[in-house]
Amino acid sequence: MKRRARPSERTPAPRRSSSRRALGLAAAAIAVTVAILAAIFVGRGRAQADLRVVPRQNVLLVTIDTLRADALGSYGGRAATPSLDRLARDGVRFDFAHAHAVLTLPSHASILTGRYPFQHGVRDNSGYRLAADAPTAATLLKQAGYDTAAFIGAFPLHSRFGLARGFDVYDDRFGETRAPTEFVMPERPATEVVALARDWLHRRSTLKSQGSTLSPQAQAPSPQPWFVWVHVFDPHAPYRPPPPFDAQYARAYDGEVAATDAALAPLFDDVRSAGRPTLIVVTGDHGEALGDHGEQTHGLFAYESTLRVPLIIAEVGDWVRPTSEVSSVAARHVDILPTVLDAVGLSIPADLPGRTLLPAAERRASAPRPSYFEAMSALLNRGWAPLTGILSGRDKYIDLPIAERYDLAGDAAEATNLAGRSPDRDRALASSLRAFGAPLPGRRQAEDPAAIARLRSLGYVSGDAPAKARYTADDDPKTLIAIDQELHRGVDLYVAKRYPEAIDAYRGIIARRPDMAIAYRHLAFVAWETGQARAAIDVLERARTTGIATASVTTQLGTYLAESGNAAAAIQLLEPLTTTDGPDADALNGLGIAYARAGQAAAARRVFERMLTIDPRSAMALANLGTLDLERGDLPAARTWFERAVSADPTSSSAHAGLGVVALKGGDRAAAIAAWTKACELDATNYDALYNLGVTLADSGNLAAARPYLERFAQSAPPAFYARDLREVRKILEK
Ligand SMILES: [Zn+2]
Repeated sequence: MKRRARPSERTPAPRRSSSRRALGLAAAAIAVTVAILAAIFVGRGRAQADLRVVPRQNVLLVTIDTLRADALGSYGGRAATPSLDRLARDGVRFDFAHAHAVLTLPSHASILTGRYPFQHGVRDNSGYRLAADAPTAATLLKQAGYDTAAFIGAFPLHSRFGLARGFDVYDDRFGETRAPTEFVMPERPATEVVALARDWLHRRSTLKSQGSTLSPQAQAPSPQPWFVWVHVFDPHAPYRPPPPFDAQYARAYDGEVAATDAALAPLFDDVRSAGRPTLIVVTGDHGEALGDHGEQTHGLFAYESTLRVPLIIAEVGDWVRPTSEVSSVAARHVDILPTVLDAVGLSIPADLPGRTLLPAAERRASAPRPSYFEAMSALLNRGWAPLTGILSGRDKYIDLPIAERYDLAGDAAEATNLAGRSPDRDRALASSLRAFGAPLPGRRQAEDPAAIARLRSLGYVSGDAPAKARYTADDDPKTLIAIDQELHRGVDLYVAKRYPEAIDAYRGIIARRPDMAIAYRHLAFVAWETGQARAAIDVLERARTTGIATASVTTQLGTYLAESGNAAAAIQLLEPLTTTDGPDADALNGLGIAYARAGQAAAARRVFERMLTIDPRSAMALANLGTLDLERGDLPAARTWFERAVSADPTSSSAHAGLGVVALKGGDRAAAIAAWTKACELDATNYDALYNLGVTLADSGNLAAARPYLERFAQSAPPAFYARDLREVRKILEK
């Protein structure tokens, strides 16, 4: 078991076959027919792009994270984006396209399922999973005989969140190719993601032809069409464009966009020369505020800087003559799936809210395409008012305690709030918004601590907050944006180890907003990490007496009590939280740890087993059961639990760390070193694993290999908990 409350576990946190050949022949025949048909149509001059139904054509979906609608060159942006601009010239560029959410996971869930967030149920980057029976672009195209593959740029789209179904390959290995001494970032550059996608496409065609008995002519193009999704993350903060883009732009964000375009270029080139028609769809999941309305990144508001996205749809192939078109129809993310299904000749499920954009008439349609949107992060993580809204024509209505209405036709910057000036118009839009019947988000499920730590490292500060019966102007994110900036400043100060300033920042937030659970939790966390256990406990007790008794506040308090020698008080506090149906996983875990600290191993075991009845794949519960068996010396049983934990979640650092201890105790030093190396790669703040790895390598005489880990430990382990270990490690390093 952990020697101490590790930060990632205690803070912000809701945690935690086939007749191929026959089919191939038929497909090849269709492809040839299509090629001939297309050739016949080439030469007819038309003003509009020639998007058409091409049965079994390939589909390439590219989602560029955090891409503002106005960032690309073709949209008037400052970044040079020649390959995306060329694609826009080859097809349709939609200049009024919108997302339905302003966060990565909910937005991608809408793109893939063709449904609004309240329909697919994924309302935030953490705490939600796409339902296991939800049809997606991948499951539908797979059923239709496509080979499917996804190449993912960052952790918010890790397979754990449920988007991987239907993909033959879902490549979300972030950082596994790095040297073991480097520490994994939960993202990877576009060049790497694109190289993997190209490699898959190349290997696939080679393998197909090698294994085929068909004539060479029938082999190319290869029989199965493919659906490939490429997600690149580069424009997301922090903005660190690679050379030469770092030197070319005053605003680093633009450098990231230009670098992303350059990274995608070879993929588009491959696809153009693939010898089979390919539908290419490029969009952003959301934009980036870059200071708009006081917001720096995205997630809090839903102004055009973050809600509006680029959307480019093109069909490419040697025989398709490019014709460019700019469409100003109100295009939506929910329209992407119907468009893809239409383009490949599949029927569109009747219950999808979106409409195909394939027929030219749909792209000049004056018929309204109203769009629902939301931003639930502030509600779920801070307890602020939920933000929902509707786009109808060029009118935009945002339903908040302080309502907002904008006329985007004349006021693209949303500078003039028209709400209240024409009450009839306000009422009509509010009523259209209500007609969507969007419920507030359902309860979030627990994420494991490593997941929370990874999301936090990408700038998402999660927390939990009780729902209110009524939200007022005081709860409006417009009122609270300054506080949010303070909260982020507190996190930055903490990361920079400027602890007293971080503490001051959180105290300032509590003074202005005494009902904000997350401020108490962060303040307590900083106090705890700097060795002020009593002060940390006091802060959380004060939160509870102020009326903030969220499960996470109580769980954090209970855990601190247990870790500081007062397990009885912790048990008394946490037991009531776990008597309900569907108890909070964090609370259960905290109670289990408290029982273990109190010497009640059997009770602890029952609690962790109960966690497994709720979520059989809870790596946290599995690893803690392993620790209990480790503590009583039952190595085989412990190993089984840790192995189950790794299989449930290969990214669980504590499960790998546990396997390391089992290996060392069993006399297998090499296996121990390998397991701890993995644990440290997965979580740079797993100080126990860092210490064990460094010291064991040093003990075995390999000081050179030990040094990076020991140095890392010496620099980053909190002295309040590792004073003795730090002295020992510094002594080794002096050798
Ligand atoms: Zn995103």
